Amino acid sequence: MTPDPRRIDWRALTDAAREAMSQAYAPYSGYPVGVAGLVDDGRVVVGCNVENASYGVGLCAECGLVSSLHATGGGQLVAVVCVDGDGNVLMPCGRCRQLLFEHGGPDMQISLAGGIKTMDELLPDAFGPAALAAFGSAHSPGQAQQETHSDG
Ligand SMILES: [Zn+2]
Repeated sequence: MTPDPRRIDWRALTDAAREAMSQAYAPYSGYPVGVAGLVDDGRVVVGCNVENASYGVGLCAECGLVSSLHATGGGQLVAVVCVDGDGNVLMPCGRCRQLLFEHGGPDMQISLAGGIKTMDELLPDAFGPAALAAFGSAHSPGQAQQETHSDG
């Protein structure tokens, strides 16, 4: 069920994202990013980007957010704000949309320059856990074994 966006404290989430951004480790790009997420149990979790001298292994802020989500008890993200170095709301990159979809689902809300959107609007027709579950139920281990032994 989609939470009422008017009941989410977007200002507090944005402040938390800005605070996380101030802790970013972005010496190579000079592009700090912070993110804050409201969890379905009321917790707020945060993340910041962490770059690396081996550029390709740098982590987006959302990676830290999702790790923090699970490290502090799990649950599902219901609302997220991502900010740039000026504290302005920022669109997550494509990979992070996939990350957020996995841990927030299609109804998770995100604050963007144009207003509040849902994950389903950011990543329509998303690949996710349901796709794996559908495949798994169509190819259950019992069925696979039966197929394996049906060649003689
Ligand atoms: Zn990203």
